[in-house]
Amino acid sequence: PTRPYDENNIFARILRGELPCSKVYEDEHVLAFNDINPLSPTHILVIPKGAYVSWDDFSECGSAEEIAALVRAVGKIAREAGLVERGYRLLANVGLESGQEVPHLHVHIFAGKPLGPMLA
Ligand code: 5GP
Repeated sequence: PTRPYDENNIFARILRGELPCSKVYEDEHVLAFNDINPLSPTHILVIPKGAYVSWDDFSECGSAEEIAALVRAVGKIAREAGLVERGYRLLANVGLESGQEVPHLHVHIFAGKPLGPMLA
């Protein structure tokens, strides 16, 4: 891993059940919940249950099963939320200059309005 994992980051605490979340989806490897400060009408965060700081160490150290589970879950959540027809955006911040705030990998799903050319 590129950085040591902080076991007390906010998403680790959500995964341990120490903090509440508005759950959208859960399976063996993945949890998804609504963003607490939504930037679009639909704003869901999808996270692996494993201790990965970002896409960087997940892509290098995640198992094939974990990686497949995250990719499948993102597609399934979007389909089941009815987002496919109008479209949606995926985003994962990695590291300092991206503005990544929470040091546990999360994929943002943005939808529900025209999202413009760059970020929500
Ligand atoms: P980042 O900037 O790291 O890519 O995104 C972090 C996201 O996590 C932000 O969109 C922020 O609103 C969200 N967030 C931060 N703390 C919490 C929390 O305690 N619960 C939920 N549901 N979302 C959070």
